[in-house]
Amino acid sequence: MKAAQERALRRGIVETSLEMERLGINQGTSGNVSARLGEGFLITPSGVPARELREEGIVWLPLDVDDDAEVLHVKRPSSEWRIHRDILRARHEMHAVVHTHSTAATAMAIHGRDIPALHYMVAAAGGDSIRCAPYALFGTQLLSDHALKALQDRRACLLAHHGVVALGDDLARAVWLAHEVEVLARQYLLACQLGPPPLLSDVQMEEVLERFKTYGRPRHAER
Ligand code: 13P
Ligand code: ZN
Repeated sequence: MKAAQERALRRGIVETSLEMERLGINQGTSGNVSARLGEGFLITPSGVPARELREEGIVWLPLDVDDDAEVLHVKRPSSEWRIHRDILRARHEMHAVVHTHSTAATAMAIHGRDIPALHYMVAAAGGDSIRCAPYALFGTQLLSDHALKALQDRRACLLAHHGVVALGDDLARAVWLAHEVEVLARQYLLACQLGPPPLLSDVQMEEVLERFKTYGRPRHAER
């Protein structure tokens, strides 16, 4: 059972990486993907383009992995393994993490701008805005610390001068949200061409967040 689950997740991570390329939210070696497995997580290897990924090349790391771990030198997991580890440690309800450099969201992140309540779908990330974490060098603990803070009560955030992090209770939902963040950023940038866009009020966003608690889910599956 465990072996079958691991095989399915390895396949899922490869397919997710290819899907992100198809969606145009990643290309080349940009971005990375992880999924929780047991007391650890599976994560894409560093510097491998999606089309060259193989299921056996996906790396398993324990959740308590630290900088001295031998596996980091042998298996070369994504340089952002700290972000994936720290999110999966802190957010027990989340089982998958994706990171992208998608263009429009990154354009906003270059300006260090949060995505404000321009559209009700901003609430899909869990609140009335999608925060932008301050800049830090890729692959560092500081970047992970900034990301975790920006993700408080949220399932997605921007990383200044870098990209996007999105979480999900599974891989499909994490990718869906990463794509949604990119769509919202495009909508924002387009809307800005007609002048500063009006935003939804706090009350309007609270209504949406309330409605999202049951949106698209059968009643018996509500959590
Ligand atoms: P990796 O290839 O090491 O996952 O790095 C890609 C990336 O997006 C770093 O932020
Ligand atoms: Zn990156």
